[in-house]
Amino acid sequence: MQTQDLRDAVLRHLTYSLGKDPAHAQTNDWRLALSFAVRERIVDPWFASTRATYGGKHKRVYYLSMEFLIGRLLEDAVVNLGLMDAADEVMSGFGQNLHNVLSDEPDAALGNGGLGRLAACFLESLSTIGCPAYGYGIRYEHGLFKQSFRDGRQMESPEDWLLRRNAWGFPRPEASFRIGFNGRVAERDGKPVWEPSEAVLASAHDTPIIGWQGRWANTLRLWEAKPVDIFDLDRFNRGEFAAAAEAEASARTISRVLYPDDTTYQGKRLRLQQEYFFTAASLRDIVRRFDSEYDDPAWLPQKVAIQLNDTHPAIAGPELVRILHDEKGMEIDRAIETARATLNYTNHTLLPEALEKWSEELMSDLLPRHMTLIQRIDEHHAQEKPNRKVRLIENGDVKMGELSFVMANRVNGVSALHTELMKQTVFEDLHAQYPDKIVNQTNGVTPRRWLLSANPRLSNLIAGEIGMDWVDDLEQLARLEPLAEDSAFRKAYRDAKRANKAELSQWFRDTHDVALDPDAMFDVQIKRIHEYKRQHLNILEAIALWQEIRDNPNGDWTPRVKIFGGKAAPGYVFAKEIIYLINSVAKVLNADPVTSKFLKVVYPPNYNVTLAEKLIPAAELSQQISTAGKEASGTGNMKFALNGALTIGTLDGANVEIRELVGADNFFLFGMTASEVVERRKVHEHAAKAIAADPRLARALDEIRAGTFSDGDGERFRSITDNVSGHDYFLVSSDFTDFWRASREVDRAYRDSTSWTRMAVLNTARSGWFSSDRTIRGYMGDIWGASAVPA
Ligand SMILES: *Cc1c(COP(=O)(O)O)cnc(C)c1O
Repeated sequence: MQTQDLRDAVLRHLTYSLGKDPAHAQTNDWRLALSFAVRERIVDPWFASTRATYGGKHKRVYYLSMEFLIGRLLEDAVVNLGLMDAADEVMSGFGQNLHNVLSDEPDAALGNGGLGRLAACFLESLSTIGCPAYGYGIRYEHGLFKQSFRDGRQMESPEDWLLRRNAWGFPRPEASFRIGFNGRVAERDGKPVWEPSEAVLASAHDTPIIGWQGRWANTLRLWEAKPVDIFDLDRFNRGEFAAAAEAEASARTISRVLYPDDTTYQGKRLRLQQEYFFTAASLRDIVRRFDSEYDDPAWLPQKVAIQLNDTHPAIAGPELVRILHDEKGMEIDRAIETARATLNYTNHTLLPEALEKWSEELMSDLLPRHMTLIQRIDEHHAQEKPNRKVRLIENGDVKMGELSFVMANRVNGVSALHTELMKQTVFEDLHAQYPDKIVNQTNGVTPRRWLLSANPRLSNLIAGEIGMDWVDDLEQLARLEPLAEDSAFRKAYRDAKRANKAELSQWFRDTHDVALDPDAMFDVQIKRIHEYKRQHLNILEAIALWQEIRDNPNGDWTPRVKIFGGKAAPGYVFAKEIIYLINSVAKVLNADPVTSKFLKVVYPPNYNVTLAEKLIPAAELSQQISTAGKEASGTGNMKFALNGALTIGTLDGANVEIRELVGADNFFLFGMTASEVVERRKVHEHAAKAIAADPRLARALDEIRAGTFSDGDGERFRSITDNVSGHDYFLVSSDFTDFWRASREVDRAYRDSTSWTRMAVLNTARSGWFSSDRTIRGYMGDIWGASAVPA
């Protein structure tokens, strides 16, 4: 019945929504027809969710995020609606392969990495739990750039997910707001009124996000920037064609591209415009919805919880005060208190260069009223805490982390370690003033995408043992624990991993013309390229291992394939050098007839959500090797552990909690702790000393300097060798020796496949806590005071 209905709907949409004759339909048409047919089944639960929220006057959660790294949506929807088998049958009936149809969807990359992917996992969990919520962000015309390699170097080209028709976004031109910039603050009836001199329209596009089993759907509302006046007809008629379209082009620039850097800001003015644009549109929408139900703005904190994902929407503080005070006439201190009771802030990084600051000059120019309100908020803070040490404006800069902190009801870190370090470092003084404000919410990942759909072999195996309750109650995986001792189960578990590896090897053969041995250990490091993540430590270890295999080619080596993936911000020169080095090393190692059967290095370009879904189920070793104290949480680490990859890692971010939960025996720990890192940095010439003490490291660096990986050009990777042997802020040299030790321990452990599989099973069985459902329940209880709407 379900299959027949779906079949009819696909055919109807192909014919009447797309205007395609089935005889001539292409994969893209079938994919869109299936998407529309599936979307149809989302709309009713979506409306029902909205009605239930209004009907019950429930508190709503608003998640403001500059990034949503959502990836493909069709498979997610099909899986959550329980339509996988039906869709498979229907597509086969039309002579199509469901897998090919699903793979045709562009990967929506409206984010850089972990922060954006977290937002996407949260949306799915909020719907699964049935918590009334909206995600708010920007509908970038071009998401994160596409990465390719030319002679080993990163090349960037624009991403174009909207070139083909987007099946999921409902345009809502009726929901648009005029967003002003610049101008001046005038006084009317003794009250300040901002009179912007420029404006753009923020126009909404809604994507329904359906939860597990289709019980609830929330909305992701993304804003598109449009001109207020479409077009200058007078100029056009005078023949000034380009000039006639100028205003339009300049307005559209605001939602044109995602900034490809999640740790520093650039294109300052446009970036601040983007931040204000989506924050202001979202707040207006939130207040409009609130006003439609309640008369008194003082009620706002009871009915609305707003989460700021990092400081990118930090302007929400002054903007909400402006709405409450300037527009609604609430007394200023009450407006500040009301806004503050409504807003919460998630901190994602302790890297000082990544804490946003805006020059007072730029802020006063672009948002003059907000600048005075920030000063007023600063005074309010000073009155409240007369012995305060922190000012919101310092050396001519507005400090957005501090502003967010002061304007938040709760501030959270994203792993236990990160939250503690936040209290001791970036927000030490503010924490002393507001000791109850900081709370922890360790990140999580959605098991629907990262286990159920990404890894069907393992999911089926699990379902055969414990049923399906784990899908929205991931700690049920603990019931697998006794099976770690069951040899038949271990064999089935190993077979599932082996089949995933074989499938991945086939993909590498087909798409990258490289042969991988599916019996070798698959060792994976996929994440943004950044010095603190230390991909260069990993490649140095590969070089040293290669040298040792060459010394002793008849040795008893454990075959390994090292898989790298990740993009570098286009302006981050050092990160791009790391990419170039990895690719250059790969070329030499893979061509070595003696060693390549033991060690290969591959680096598929354009790492994104879709590629992560391919690689993680086939991974056996998860590289989580950041300099301790630098990775706020990580979520890649959780996806790997859940899929049965063992971690080699430092005590950083959520690695700490992963190790505690899976057990120290099932985790390969190495490296300095966060406090040892701080101490080590004080040691004079720490890198030189580490190199002098480890001939392997010295020899690996010499090999790079000798030009082995650069056609004899000893200078090519100077920036890397100089850094690692000189300043070495991220302590690659100091951690190398212990990394090598742990890596050889991994090799030994891998040779005992029984015990390796036992450890892998225990990683899966004990990773249930890392579900983003658990994280969201934590936010609901500790931060938002929100509840799920009963079914
Ligand atoms: C999970 C994920 C990340 C985050 O990875 P980390 O290892 O935690 O930095 C980044 N990008 C994509 C595409 C992901 O799926």
